[in-house]
Amino acid sequence: MGLTKTYKDGSTPTIAIIGAGMSGLCAAIRLQTQLNLKTYTIFELEPELGGTWWVNTYPGCACDVKSVNYEFSFEPNYDWSKTYAGQQEILEYMRHVAQKHELHKKIQFQTKITHVEWHQDLQKWVLDWTKTGTGETGQTKADVVFSGTGPLRTLEFYQRTPSYVIPRNNDSTSGLMKFLFRHVPLLFWINKKLAYWTSEFFLYYVFSYKWRHALQRSLAMLGAWFVRYWNVRDKTLRQKLTPNYPIGCRRVVVSSDYLPALTRKNVNVHTEAITGVKGHSIILEDGSVQEVDALVLATGFKVQDMLDQGFLIGRGGCDVSKVWGIDPQTYFGLTSAETPNFFFLLGPHSALGHNSVLYMIETQVEFGIRALSHMMRHDLSSIQVTNGACKAFGDEMEAKMKDMVWSSHCRSWYQNEKGKVTALWWGTCSEYDWRLRKYRVQDFVEVKRTASLKGQALASPATI
Ligand SMILES: Cc1cc2nc3c(=O)[nH]c(=O)nc-3n(C[C@H](O)[C@H](O)[C@H](O)COP(=O)(O)OP(=O)(O)OC[C@H]3O[C@@H](n4cnc5c(N)ncnc54)[C@H](O)[C@@H]3O)c2cc1C
Repeated sequence: MGLTKTYKDGSTPTIAIIGAGMSGLCAAIRLQTQLNLKTYTIFELEPELGGTWWVNTYPGCACDVKSVNYEFSFEPNYDWSKTYAGQQEILEYMRHVAQKHELHKKIQFQTKITHVEWHQDLQKWVLDWTKTGTGETGQTKADVVFSGTGPLRTLEFYQRTPSYVIPRNNDSTSGLMKFLFRHVPLLFWINKKLAYWTSEFFLYYVFSYKWRHALQRSLAMLGAWFVRYWNVRDKTLRQKLTPNYPIGCRRVVVSSDYLPALTRKNVNVHTEAITGVKGHSIILEDGSVQEVDALVLATGFKVQDMLDQGFLIGRGGCDVSKVWGIDPQTYFGLTSAETPNFFFLLGPHSALGHNSVLYMIETQVEFGIRALSHMMRHDLSSIQVTNGACKAFGDEMEAKMKDMVWSSHCRSWYQNEKGKVTALWWGTCSEYDWRLRKYRVQDFVEVKRTASLKGQALASPATI
């Protein structure tokens, strides 16, 4: 059955998209192209779009999956200059895509969403915003929300846990190849599918206990060999840089520069823990003090507390961050029983350790589109996933994660403070996509639109 694009009275829901990174852009484009829907606004706190790729500009910043996997399926790029594109090139791609779909006029830049609250009586979300430049504040009503707020003279290098490092063969793409990709669709398709299925295969080869045993050990040994003999000749340094956990448990570093950089004469690698910073000194576990001119904090991403307390107030006035705690109960990381008409893009349990998250974002947006179509076809003002469906998903995740390497003994940003993996989806992108292909009516509680609510559907998203 085709998609339903309006309610019976010709109106469409108003939609707020938070964030103009990959997720927000994907949601906006698919709403426009799939549903022909114009009643949406994107709120972005920065002065530019790009999210991750606008904020991170450090030298060498690049993606660690192949570029052909790091593009929207509906916006192929034949011109990636390298196997692994750099930050500037990815940002250019995003700008190009946004321009093509004329998204700029739909983005309210320098507008921070500070509070989001569900009003059961209105059957709407009310979003508070602040203009970061002027301090002006206001409110916006929306029927549905897509939240895409997501995931160095002498160098003294302090490391708590060594990483597995694999080489990055970052070949340049020749003009001829770009030409062929553009004009021979089969070649482009094969190249893309090869990159995709190699990553999907790695899920089982590296990350799954069920499959990995012998294979896994061989790969881990190869990784360790790479660390020991190829790049690092000094035995003491080799020991410091050799991981003692199974490969894949933490994110693998894809780099051909990292280890050679650590062997330079002016670089010292330390494994003692830093316990404090005072003025120009860092204080170490054993009480010793090291003077530094500049301190670079590269302690990783904080993905576990994705919601600030009091930011998202859901059904019945509950603070969603408190209900979730450290172990969010969601439906495929996409929505929860506390949040009707609300779609998290890259929410809990939907990041990846093996492939490009763009596949997940696209699947989540497509599900949102199907849900919106269902709402319009059946004249619904809200849909809310049941607690049972969330529990079933949570139980499945817990059972499946036991077989995955991310649950083994290491600390990573994939896990919550108790060591439970709450950031990642356990399976392949294809399985995630397959499971969300259908809107399952039995998993949702649906509320019909009442006469008084019908007139409100076309309200401007920028006013209340
Ligand atoms: C250096 C680096 C390399 C990476 N490499 C890869 C890779 O190779 N493969 C891969 O799959 N993933 C990679 N990632 C993960 C990457 O974050 C995702 O691929 C993707 O860019 C996430 O997009 P997003 O739109 O969900 O989030 P973001 O890019 O984080 O965008 C979120 C946007 O929301 C805005 N925002 C947040 N809160 C608010 C608010 N309250 N109000 C208004 N606006 C708000 C932010 O300003 C931002 O623009 C990498 C990340 C980094 C940092």
